[in-house]
Amino acid sequence: MKEYNTQLIENKTKIIAVSKTFSVDQILPLVEYGHIDFGENKVQEANAKWPEIKKKYPLIKLHMIGKLQTNKVKFVLPIFDYIHSLDNYKLAKKISEEQKKHNKKLKIFIQINIGQESQKSGIEPGELNNFYLDCTNNLDLDIIGIMCLPPIESNNDYYFLKMSELIKKFPIKELSMGMSNDYLKAYGSGATFLRIGSKIFGKRD
Ligand SMILES: *Cc1c(COP(=O)(O)O)cnc(C)c1O
Repeated sequence: MKEYNTQLIENKTKIIAVSKTFSVDQILPLVEYGHIDFGENKVQEANAKWPEIKKKYPLIKLHMIGKLQTNKVKFVLPIFDYIHSLDNYKLAKKISEEQKKHNKKLKIFIQINIGQESQKSGIEPGELNNFYLDCTNNLDLDIIGIMCLPPIESNNDYYFLKMSELIKKFPIKELSMGMSNDYLKAYGSGATFLRIGSKIFGKRD
């Protein structure tokens, strides 16, 4: 009997091809090649591009990676499979309500303000425990991991390691971190979902 290294299979890091701003024609070759995970940051753009593709390729998983307004949640539910940007309680409550209406549960990452920057959204590391419990116990959300955007021009290694330390305190294991310019560092720190755009599709306008 063939033996598998289940450790390796379980830890397999996924690449989310971030297709924001790119047209369906530009995305299709990767879809046809068999890539599964794609990311968009705008609800309206995603709804213009993906329903047709997903109908034809039902295995595709679509990830919402951008800032999400509560009034857009109802448009997120039908088309997306993951949300990476849950960053406040009002949004969590709205997702919970919409999920009941649609009878569908998305896989969700809590966005962490890992650099504790005043201008950036995200849950503060010290507040994650209460927020996590609210989401899972009171709102019945399927929280699978945490996500971050490290401070610009920072030592990203430091923040990626902080993320991998933080998640150890919780019964979840997905780490969404790393983009075109720092994905190798993120991978080295245990990222399980890398969000890569320009390195795959080329420069955005
Ligand atoms: C655009 C975007 C990415 C991908 O950025 P690249 O530098 O093109 O790889 C990743 N994460 C988020 C949240 C983004 O908005």
